Amino acid sequence: MCGITGYIGYRDAYPIIIKGLQRLEYRGYDSAGVVLYDGKNINLSKTKGKVSDLQEKASQEISIEGKIGFGHTRWATHGVPNHVNSHPHLSQSSNLVIVHNGIIENYDTLKQELVLRGYTFHSDTDTEVLINLIEEIKIQEKCKLGKAVQLALQQVVGAYAILVFDKEKPNELVIAKLGSPIAIGIGKENSEFFIASDATPFIEYTKNAIYLEDSEMAIVKIDREIRIHKINDDSLVEDLRIQELQLNLEQIEKGGYEHFMLKEIHEQPNAITDTYRGRLLANKGVIKMGGLDDNIERFLNAKRIIIVACGTSWHAGLVAEYLFEDIARIPVEVEYGSEFRYRNPIITENDVVIAISQSGETADTLAAVKLAKSKGAFVFGVCNVVGSSIAREVHAGAYTHAGPEIGVASTKAFTTQITILALMALKLGKIKGNIAAPVYQTYLQELIQIPDKVAQLLEEDAHIKKIASIYKDVPNFLYLGRGYNFPVALEGALKLKEISYIHAEGYPAAEMKHGPIALIDKNMPVVVIATRKGHYKKVVSNIQEIKSRHGQLIAIVTKGDIVVRDLADHIIEVPETLEAFTPLLTTIPLQLLSYHIAVMRECNVDQPRNLAKSVTVE
Ligand code: GLU
Repeated sequence: MCGITGYIGYRDAYPIIIKGLQRLEYRGYDSAGVVLYDGKNINLSKTKGKVSDLQEKASQEISIEGKIGFGHTRWATHGVPNHVNSHPHLSQSSNLVIVHNGIIENYDTLKQELVLRGYTFHSDTDTEVLINLIEEIKIQEKCKLGKAVQLALQQVVGAYAILVFDKEKPNELVIAKLGSPIAIGIGKENSEFFIASDATPFIEYTKNAIYLEDSEMAIVKIDREIRIHKINDDSLVEDLRIQELQLNLEQIEKGGYEHFMLKEIHEQPNAITDTYRGRLLANKGVIKMGGLDDNIERFLNAKRIIIVACGTSWHAGLVAEYLFEDIARIPVEVEYGSEFRYRNPIITENDVVIAISQSGETADTLAAVKLAKSKGAFVFGVCNVVGSSIAREVHAGAYTHAGPEIGVASTKAFTTQITILALMALKLGKIKGNIAAPVYQTYLQELIQIPDKVAQLLEEDAHIKKIASIYKDVPNFLYLGRGYNFPVALEGALKLKEISYIHAEGYPAAEMKHGPIALIDKNMPVVVIATRKGHYKKVVSNIQEIKSRHGQLIAIVTKGDIVVRDLADHIIEVPETLEAFTPLLTTIPLQLLSYHIAVMRECNVDQPRNLAKSVTVE
């Protein structure tokens, strides 16, 4: 959901836009495009690939003249990354042009209405729907661009940052925002305006910027005018909130965070919301998920579900095993892609295989998908990257919409995968009659609270950092959990290993007695997830066993817990939630703990040694 950059003023726009897009590359993208207005024509060039590919293409196919224009790096959410789906998008008349970051949830309904009114669509994007909606309103209401954008956005459900140009109003750009970020850089005495997803593209031109707030739109004009007003009514924003930027380039790229991993940890409240956006209609008691809805019989008739994945995604798969068996009562097996593909597994046409991969390029998972397909199973993908190899190979699927994940150690991918899988389990459980309507409703109402609860937990950062400083030099760590939180223990240990190079093991708490307990002495820190729901009493007994052997105990407990507090050396409290959703919370302090330990050990957090972000080789 990626980068926008635009310019209107007295300089040549093209070099500013291209440089701006390069500055936004860190956000991750799959295609790029640019549009310029040369005083007569709209000149547009776009391509799948990198900004350098765009430069090459643009220089061959368009005039790069013009003092007004904008560019986009797309991170596909609707429609595979290809030339046609890339932004900018023109309206039917070719008079209007748009770039957009975000998701228009109700694009389908809007599209159907526009088709009835004679519009044809060239791309699969939600964005092309929006620009034609703006055009249609402009024609019907006989209004100016600004008004048409405003009225169109009043019909839109979703998240967006948009930049729109109209050939009939060639001296202005219209900008609007809800959910996705957009900043406006202001040149001396309003002589020029820079528009971008963050301030990196224009930092060398101006330090004065306005960050648009949600439900605001701005009109910037070549004759030095800037006006901001609300989208939902016509009220003008009197105070323009111009701020002086203090940040340097690197800080802006990371949103002010020291590392991408920390930024992505903090993005989780929004990422989880983006995952269930348009899918979870809690008040109506409805879960909508195209790939699942269209193939619901395959799931309902499945004799079992086999989940294939690697690394962190495999841990999300283990959480899903609990979810599907507990809520939907479908037997589940969870497999490493690498083992599954080589062990001649028994797969039948009655099996549903779910492949989980953030990048959608994980070689072993992809091979497992192909194998399962060849045996007649129905294969469903849960990926983050739209149009990735796994997403293309599977019969159906659901994207997590977590936004690009740049830190090698996966964080928001894990919680958003669990969110998708929880939605699936709930939908199936409801249809199969395994959960009563009020219980189902409680689940839905609780799920929409999770982003707020994650946000509350993130405020514990300083406390977790303090704990990290105590244990940063130990050689080993043990992580224990039971039930839904057993996979979280595995994930916590993996995070620590990956980025701090401390040896760590995750174990089901009760299994400790069958081996790892031998390791426990006063030098062994043990992280135990002991939330009140689940097997609380049993975990408390495990904690007693650790304490009797003088282990150092860090306990993740439910807010207000008093029993474990007395036993543990350190406690980290998580807000209360339903047991099935505890992994979405308990995993957050473990991410922060490993992050801080790694930083204190001066490790390269975003690019740990020997690791690659997506493992595209066996
Ligand atoms: N939803 C739009 C698309 O898929 C915008 C994606 C983005 O934010 O880059 O084209």
